[in-house]
Amino acid sequence: MHAPKDSDSAFALQGVTCTFDGVRALDAASVAFTRGRTSVLIGSSGSGKSTLLRLLIGLEWPVSGNVLCDGEPLRRDALPEVRRRVGYVIQEGGLFPHLTVLGNLALLPRHLGWNASHVLERARELAALAHLHEGLLSRFPAELSGGQRQRVALMRALMLDPPTLLLDEPLGALDPLVRHGLQDELREIFARLGKTVIMVTHDMAEAAFFSDHLILMRRGRIIQDGRLEDFQRTPADDFVREFLAAHRNLPGGGA
Ligand code: ADP
Ligand code: MG
Repeated sequence: MHAPKDSDSAFALQGVTCTFDGVRALDAASVAFTRGRTSVLIGSSGSGKSTLLRLLIGLEWPVSGNVLCDGEPLRRDALPEVRRRVGYVIQEGGLFPHLTVLGNLALLPRHLGWNASHVLERARELAALAHLHEGLLSRFPAELSGGQRQRVALMRALMLDPPTLLLDEPLGALDPLVRHGLQDELREIFARLGKTVIMVTHDMAEAAFFSDHLILMRRGRIIQDGRLEDFQRTPADDFVREFLAAHRNLPGGGA
């Protein structure tokens, strides 16, 4: 079954509550993310998905409960090291508009002392992986299409070859056709690289496409956590049923 032990996981939350001005963005959430697997957080806007990702790398801190990284409680003094092992793509991609694609890709590696040719070599390697034409490395983000910008955001997250990727609605801003194509490519890339991927979407069909580990959230709570088949066979409550019914084109179910 889908109950990975916290100690075997890349990351885990144990009863984590996180509040903003007294409002619970996460409410006693417990979940474990298995190494090498793609897990997808789904839920409507405001359900706590982005907050959950931010907690994993210490951008937010729980008021109670534990965040575990490689089975150990996350410590503030270990954050730089943890963040080096995590590639993070924020909602909207977060590219710096005043830097070229290569400039964006180079930021972190240069900070760590890579020389220019090492950066360029890695950038070219990732351009090939992400099917981005090498000629685009000298462009500015505003000179790229939405799909190309998302490829660059993913490449930037992969520069240091981190074992874990956190992707916050990486395809959310794209039109359906581009989105469809990128879904196929991303799934292929995740499979090829064997990364631990924790991805956010609010689209159930997209979630089902990417993962066999789904985490459905509502108002800061984890409502159900498991495989799509478990959701379909034994939905935890009416909210899960409604959520499944509201999304068509699901394998083995949906309208
Ligand atoms: P999601 O990513 O699922 O849309 P978020 O994790 O961004 O949800 O937000 C969960 C809840 O926490 C929302 O009610 C949101 O308004 C609130 N929230 C998130 N970040 C902050 C913040 N920095 N300050 C105040 N409230 C916040
Ligand atoms: Mg969000």
